[in-house]
Amino acid sequence: MSEVVTDPRTELAERIARLKQQRKAVILAHNYQLGEVQDIADFVGDSLELSRRATQVEADVIVFCGVMFMAETAKLLNPQRTVLIPDPLAGCPMCEMAPVEAVRKRKAELPGVTVVAYVNTTAAVKAEADICCTSANAVKIVNSLPDKRILFLPDKHLGHWVQRHTDKEIILWDGYCPTHQKITVRDVQRLKEEHPKATVIVHPECTADVIDLADEVLSTGQMLRWARESDAREVIVGTEVGIIHRLKQENPDKTFYPISFLSTCPNMKRITLEKVAWALEDMQYEVTVPAEVADKARRAIEKMLEVG
Ligand code: SF4
Repeated sequence: MSEVVTDPRTELAERIARLKQQRKAVILAHNYQLGEVQDIADFVGDSLELSRRATQVEADVIVFCGVMFMAETAKLLNPQRTVLIPDPLAGCPMCEMAPVEAVRKRKAELPGVTVVAYVNTTAAVKAEADICCTSANAVKIVNSLPDKRILFLPDKHLGHWVQRHTDKEIILWDGYCPTHQKITVRDVQRLKEEHPKATVIVHPECTADVIDLADEVLSTGQMLRWARESDAREVIVGTEVGIIHRLKQENPDKTFYPISFLSTCPNMKRITLEKVAWALEDMQYEVTVPAEVADKARRAIEKMLEVG
């Protein structure tokens, strides 16, 4: 009689489903997560979509599969819930490029400046900001402000993209995403030569010279929507490679070429199925935000959500 062998990944996913019920938990995952983590999540999205979803969660526990600033944002927006991150070392190097002391110093040098903080910042930096933004709404947020001079934190490439779409003065911060910086003009040119009929879509965290070669500049949520609605059959994709999983799943009849397999975020990939199971078993690692910054940081995010 032949023995039925269950795939260990399936067994792990089933175990997570049981634990999720026991703990009354929901799993939120970013579009850059490993495919197998996206597959066990209740909701997968970009930063803006995840922020909105975090405000609606009624379960006791949110397991946040992403990096720390995202889990912090979920905690800020839904402080009654227990928010867990499966790996507390899943940070974001771009966040670390804007330490709060340096932000305070720069603000002091620019009296009266309006501070727009990309969500890729710590809660302490959000507390110093007038309003937050994501890559999906950065242009809209900046243009919604009455002020003419904006200190934009911390991504200089996204800030530069916003500058192209506003007549306000954008004062840039010298931050960037190391993962998107790995996407080069040469990579784009090579892929365009190999696939001349393909449409090029890139994320606004890419450098300006890469953006200049793109047909569309989109956040990850916008990329997914665009791919569903567009007639393009072949698409060259310039962002973290995790997005390819969902693009393929949702559009099996279309072909997606990542611009570079080097654009893998090692922090996003710290979250694994095993760590999600451990997080639920041991109720770790709980995300907290110091009370002295929580209210101000929450206000900056809520203002963003009010604008849209
Ligand atoms: S992809 Fe870039 S911005 Fe996003 S978490 Fe990784 S390092 Fe930070």
